[in-house]
Amino acid sequence: MTARIIDGKAFAATIRERVAAHVSRLKADHGLTPGLAVVLVGADPASEVYVRNKGKQTKEAGMESFEHRLPAETAEADLLALVARLNADPAVHGILVQLPLPAHIDEAKVIGAIAPEKDADGFHISNVGLLATGQSALVPCTPLGCLLLLRDLHGSLSGMEAVVLGRSNIVGKPMAQLLLRESCTVTIAHSRTRGIEAVAARADILVAAVGRPEMVKADWVKPGATVIDVGINRLEGEGGKARLVGDVDFEAVAPVAGAITPVPGGVGPMTIACLLANTVTAACRANGLPAPEGLTA
Ligand code: NDP
Repeated sequence: MTARIIDGKAFAATIRERVAAHVSRLKADHGLTPGLAVVLVGADPASEVYVRNKGKQTKEAGMESFEHRLPAETAEADLLALVARLNADPAVHGILVQLPLPAHIDEAKVIGAIAPEKDADGFHISNVGLLATGQSALVPCTPLGCLLLLRDLHGSLSGMEAVVLGRSNIVGKPMAQLLLRESCTVTIAHSRTRGIEAVAARADILVAAVGRPEMVKADWVKPGATVIDVGINRLEGEGGKARLVGDVDFEAVAPVAGAITPVPGGVGPMTIACLLANTVTAACRANGLPAPEGLTA
């Protein structure tokens, strides 16, 4: 058996088309243009690339993109003042402060200052609580992307055994909450889990989000399972060229799994697509309109 390779790049394009179609309906029917503000403090090269791509894809979907680039030495109070202005700006429906922030700024304080209904990243404690209590929330983009991929593949996930490797606030925990909401039986494993291979091998759905290159081997995977690889690890390749690998040993696992996401081209492209989806959802909710179908958790 060889796994079906899940094409995250193609599915992300489908999500962006759904977003663009919804945006043009909002413009035509309600005169509403969703707007996303992205704030970058400092000049971290990886963050620069993310912010540029976010702005580009936001505009391509027909939305307003507001970029705020602040110097690395920006005082926390000035960043908080900008967040307050964005909270009050009716043209801004989603706000994302690019992480990591410089060490002198308290990330939790800044995330906590974003209006929860504009929290496009879904990191605000109110959204975390809403998700955990099964209410409508803005959900972190990467786990939302994984969920949309899984729904596209399986339809209903009800009753499936799901194992999430990793318990971070941005991937592992919200992923587990989403799978629980889909009525999966969910196990979260982490660095202290005993016999993690056997735990992983119970899964019908195995999500790996540990940041350990190719940690998941063939004997961690139940034959036919769906494997979602969130990991993005940069390895030194031949001739000093960087090579991206996931948390799953793709070559070893693909012959065992039923379906698997590659790295790159799996979960990665879904993250920005889901950021756009969250912005449209936020714009709809702010205007008393129903959230778009197929773009929410
Ligand atoms: P964190 O470092 O915040 O969390 C890693 C988690 O993995 C922790 O819960 C940790 O356990 C667990 N872990 C680490 N080592 C092991 C191990 N040997 N065995 C079992 N569990 C282990 O990472 P993130 O959640 O932020 O990211 C995870 C991966 O996903 C990274 O590769 C990151 O680059 C990628 N990523 C990809 C995104 C995308 O767009 N595709 C977006 C976000 C992240 P413990 O809590 O016990 O320390």
